[in-house]
Parts: sequence; structure tokens; C-alpha cells
Amino acid sequence: MNPQFETMPVSIFEEMSLAAARHGAINLGQGFPDFGWPEALLDEAARLIREGSNQYPPSRGLPALRDSLSAFYASRQSLALDPGQFVVTSGATEAIAAALFAALQPGDAALIIAPAYDAYAPLIRRAGGVVQEVVLRPPHWSLDRNLLEAAITPQTRILIINNPHNPTGRVLSAAELDAIVATARAHDLLILSDEVWEEVLAPGTTFTSLAGLAPERVIKVGSAGKIFSLTGWKVGWAAAPHGMADVIARAHQYLTFATPPHLQAAVASALAHPEWLDAPSEGFARARQHLASGLEAAGYALLPGEGTYFQCVDLKASGIDLDDRAFAALAVEQAGVAVIPLSPFTERDPERGLVRLCFAKKDETIDAAIAAMARAR
Ligand code: GLN
Repeated sequence: MNPQFETMPVSIFEEMSLAAARHGAINLGQGFPDFGWPEALLDEAARLIREGSNQYPPSRGLPALRDSLSAFYASRQSLALDPGQFVVTSGATEAIAAALFAALQPGDAALIIAPAYDAYAPLIRRAGGVVQEVVLRPPHWSLDRNLLEAAITPQTRILIINNPHNPTGRVLSAAELDAIVATARAHDLLILSDEVWEEVLAPGTTFTSLAGLAPERVIKVGSAGKIFSLTGWKVGWAAAPHGMADVIARAHQYLTFATPPHLQAAVASALAHPEWLDAPSEGFARARQHLASGLEAAGYALLPGEGTYFQCVDLKASGIDLDDRAFAALAVEQAGVAVIPLSPFTERDPERGLVRLCFAKKDETIDAAIAAMARAR
């Protein structure tokens, strides 16, 4: 068997979800909400399974979904993306895979910003590429042009940006976005902009898509699972300049070929109802505050964050003398709550004292998790 996969650890999300199930623990590890999806969207999907098509849709995605995506991004983010620029995929992870397979040739390098979402490095390597890592440091995880320039080599082809950022929860500032665009233009790099958390923002936070700032070089990745709080639906997409979208579509046709048509059609109709997102956003804002105040009351020191479902905790500043993996093991095995350690998201010299908790949960789930976190110290 291929050693690239034989030696690969099980993803930390799967590891912690399995541990949570084994120990009957509350799962604030893997990021999925236990409320917040529009009920009308479930009804529409159920109706479409009965009455709609259940046969192969076009590989690039249902025209109705690509039209809806174009209109949604025009109204929510003022982006000029026409329907032909979208490739619908089975989840954002598949969009990232297709984009990297399309962009990289063997020996090309891709630059990731660590801590980095765990799918990037394995997919770069699967594409025959080399991983280059810029490592950011807490509490602000600030990115600047010097850090990017220091990591770029003549082999660098693509920058992978994740904004809002998982696992830290930070949202990039205008200055950081400008530095990314200026660096990419100076070195003629593509930008793979993983923007799956674009609709999951703390109150008062504004999000700017890189696709609007550098439309000539940005592959924007999005996810219906994140927009509509249905993470298991695995309906994602990539949007790119026309020529690039065509190449991504070629890579996609031999990954999954297509995505369930009733789910695509249901997402297409939901995108025309952005007001369906208002109640979930208010619910998530309250949940964010609920978990943060409960953790602080239990003596935990929190890191700032403006987006995603996640709150990071600084163990050392909380007076806990365990590394992140040891704490995560103790929390799930003895205290009854699963969290995600941050060290697996950085290859070179990771921070070892930070953990991530998902706050996108009902009040009773958060209350029980806070009580368990109080027991973990
Ligand atoms: N995006 C999810 C998270 O960050 C994990 C998804 C997965 O497990 N593949 O928690």
C-alpha cells in the first residue's frame, strides 16, 4: 500500500469524535451545530427526493444552483461571478482537492498559513506538490507581507488562504488581505481562498472576499453545509476565472463526478432566502457569548476570534500545565467533553498549549460542556 496513506494519522476531527462517542462525552470537537438549520430547507430536500430528480446531474452542477450562487454572491458580497465560473462539488474539501489537482504540477509548491485546516497539506502532497508553511503566532495570528515573502520560492504557485480562519476563528483585516493580494500579484501566484465560514461571523464583523479583491487569480471555495448549518450535506463549490474553472471541472469529474441533485436543488432555492440565515446568526452569536462567559467563569483564558463556530482556549494562561493533546485526552476521558488540540494543524514548531471548542450548540449542550470543562481543571 501507498506509504503516504499508511503513515497518515486519522484526522483529529474523526479521532476526537470517535473518542467522544466511546466515552459518552459532549462533542465540542468536530465543528457541527446542533441547531440553526432552516426547517423549510429540510422540507424542500425531502420533497425533491420524492418529486425531483434522483439521477446524475451535470458534473459541473445543476444550472439552477450555479445561477443561485451567482445571484447570492452578487447581493451578499458584491461579487461579479457568473454561473459559468462555478463548479459544484461534494463538499468544500472536494473543491479544494479539485482546485489543487488543477493548479499544481509535480514539484510545484503551495504555501499554507499555519495553523492550517488539516486537509490542505495531504491534498497538496497528493497532487505531487510541496508544502510551504508560514507559521502564525497567538494571540492575534497576524499575517504580513514579510512573512509571506520569506516563505515564497520560485517553485511557489499558489497561496492557500482560509478566511474566516479555522481553527483560530480569526477574520483577516483589510491590511492582511491587501498584503496577500500584493504578494500574489508580485509573484504571479494563484490564491485558493477557502471562505467556507463567510456567513459565520461574530456580531459587528465584516467579511471581504478575496475573490472581489483579486478576481483574476482567486479560486473561491464555499460550502452550503456551513452557510445553512447542515455540515453532513457535503454540497460545496469552487468559483474561479473561466479558464481555471474549466480545468477544475476536469479534475472534479474524476473525483466524485457529481453531487446529489436534490440537495443541490434544495440549496439553490435556499440561497434565494438569505433571510433564513438571520435567526441562526443570532442564535450562534448568543451561543458564542454563552460558551465564552461560561469558560471564563470556570477560569479559562480565551483567545480572540471573530468568525467560525470556534472558541480557542489558552491552557497555560488558564493555569493548566498540560499540553493540548494531554488536556484533550483528559477532557474527553475523564471530564466528559471533547475538544480539538491545535498542534496537529502546524507541521513545524506548533503551539502546544491551545485547544478549540465548538460553540454552535443549544444552551443545554453548552451548559453541560461548561460543567465538564470545569471538571477538567
Ligand atoms: N470542518 C470541521 C471542523 O473544523 C471538520 C470537518 C471534518 O471532520 N472533515 O471541525
